[in-house]
Amino acid sequence: TTTARRSPKAVLKEVFGFDSFRPLQGEVVEHVAGGGNALVLFPTGRGKSLCFQIPAICRHGVGIVVSPLLALIHDQVEALRQAGVAAAALHSGLGADEAYAVRDAARDGALDLLYVTPERLLTPAFLDFLAGIDIALFAIDEAHCVSQWGHDFRPEYAGLGRLGELFPDIPLIALTATADPRTREDIVRSLRLEDARIFESSFDRPNISYTITERAEPRRQLIDFLARHKGASGIVYCLSRRSVEETAEWLTTKGIRALPYHAGLDGRIRAANQNAFLREDGLVLVATVAFGMGIDKPDVRFVAHMDLPSSVEAYYQETGRAGRDGLPAEAFMVFGTKDVLLRRRMIDEGSAPDTVKRVERAKLEALIGICETCDCRRQAILRHFGEAHPGHCMNCDTCREPVERFDGTVAAQKLLSAIVRTGER
Ligand code: ADP
Ligand code: MG
Repeated sequence: TTTARRSPKAVLKEVFGFDSFRPLQGEVVEHVAGGGNALVLFPTGRGKSLCFQIPAICRHGVGIVVSPLLALIHDQVEALRQAGVAAAALHSGLGADEAYAVRDAARDGALDLLYVTPERLLTPAFLDFLAGIDIALFAIDEAHCVSQWGHDFRPEYAGLGRLGELFPDIPLIALTATADPRTREDIVRSLRLEDARIFESSFDRPNISYTITERAEPRRQLIDFLARHKGASGIVYCLSRRSVEETAEWLTTKGIRALPYHAGLDGRIRAANQNAFLREDGLVLVATVAFGMGIDKPDVRFVAHMDLPSSVEAYYQETGRAGRDGLPAEAFMVFGTKDVLLRRRMIDEGSAPDTVKRVERAKLEALIGICETCDCRRQAILRHFGEAHPGHCMNCDTCREPVERFDGTVAAQKLLSAIVRTGER
């Protein structure tokens, strides 16, 4: 902002140190740098951040980035500063003086990127402040949070459509790694992106192998799985805080370096465990879904699920934290009737309104379908996101061991779950 305008390619090289854009990344950057609106649907790890960071640096004014979590914001601002970019965040943790200094810098044109949470952005005071500065663009990261259909709905995101009304001439770019058609429609409608160009890359993560195995002795199964990943970093997801702690303790007694992570842990311990996982090699983080959004650890070699997630979207996003570096990685899950019953009960006994419960049930059944399929799991996952894949990926358990899948277990499981399903009506 203070320096002469540079070309996107030059910024990519000089600021971020990369020689070339990833496929479609350069197109998004050109489009947004040229003042266009964009909806970017790229899977996790594909490089969505640069899609708004580079245009913000290239354009006149400060890029306003909306991101749902403070932890995410801190990581990105820190990384940008280390790259020499003038980036800052405004959040409730800042003292009055600090916040004042940040607003001053933005007014003086001394900032390239300013990160805010959505609740902050939509306050009258902040909107007033925005009206008085030069804005390069608005970026809405993790844009699926606008959708009730998405698994990460955040009510504050719903108000972001006002940006387009208040600032019709400023480019707006929305980004997400969740792209089922329903979520996409919600994003377009809520953020008024009808005229935006849509950039969509395949959601296939070919370097991730998928295995969903019948639940028998889950701890044994986990140990056998981990034995194939000695010395590698990975995440083990459990449903409850208690099972997170018990699993982490138990792994430790088995000589595996494992740390727990869940929202009920003391904040300092949680931060320390997350940092240890990010910085050290060969650590297993046993976590609830509280862990993961926006985590950029490229060399996570495996993600294991000891319990069934709530939806294909959740499963895809959680497994997607493996192999961001493009090297082979493994997604592993144990699955059985117990999981199905438990998840259905959680929905039934939950406090959500019936309309939401109906959506939750549909999403759960879609994931169960993928767990029970005898066909290529990759194809089934991608089909869920509206993407055609020829199947026979040879990098999922059903492709690698097709015969074993016909030993009756699957058929029995299907029958059982059909009975359970009928019994519920
Ligand atoms: P996403 O938001 O899509 O999950 P990120 O923006 O966090 O992905 O980027 C994931 C990783 O890819 C980061 O480590 C980033 O530095 C790297 N990356 C992004 N673009 C490029 C590129 N053009 N060349 C090399 N690495 C890249
Ligand atoms: Mg991202």
